[in-house]
Amino acid sequence: MRLLVIEDEAKVGSFIRRALEEEGYAVDLCAEGTQGLELARSGCYDLIILDLMLPELPGLEVLRCLRKEKIPSPVLILSARSQVDQKVKGLDAGADDYLTKPFPIEELLARVRALLRRGIGEATGILQVEDLVLNPATREVTRGGQRIELTSKEYALLEYLMRNAGRVLTRPMIAEHVWNLDFDTFTNVIDVYVNYLRNKIDRGRDRKLIQTVRGSGYVLKAES
Ligand code: CA
Repeated sequence: MRLLVIEDEAKVGSFIRRALEEEGYAVDLCAEGTQGLELARSGCYDLIILDLMLPELPGLEVLRCLRKEKIPSPVLILSARSQVDQKVKGLDAGADDYLTKPFPIEELLARVRALLRRGIGEATGILQVEDLVLNPATREVTRGGQRIELTSKEYALLEYLMRNAGRVLTRPMIAEHVWNLDFDTFTNVIDVYVNYLRNKIDRGRDRKLIQTVRGSGYVLKAES
């Protein structure tokens, strides 16, 4: 899950980024509207958190451009403005949710989870491959009914693999979605984390689910 935060107040931005990263999301932070729009246009974000009062280009304009260009990423607006008309404008312009500053970080995280669930458009959101089950709502992972404890990065990696089960994921794809932009060159980190996951998911099991595709990357599927 890769998130973009467009927020010009440095303290607020880095606080949000830290909180999201602790939950296992990969986060890019951008402090002005034009650059934020450029990043958002890449279309690779699972969610965009957008401040309204921004230098260069106001948040509402960023949002209008994204929706005009049919960028599908859900958008959560953040703003100090509490007036009803601003919320209405934001939602009418294509925002998916709205949060007024100051807000408890727990509420932001809960709204992020809700938007990510909705974004995927599944009724329950529960992912299952063979006897491996992941529930994004509770972040609970089980295999054969046994609870598996994962760190937040391991969880993020597994969720990405499971959402793309059966599809070969290259290291750059994994780096982009699970880690930050800057991680592109550190692909050995991915191998290390895949091994952590294998130890927890596959070790001691008859059927291994995480497969290496030589020269390409990884795929989550039952051994054939
Ligand atoms: Ca601002």
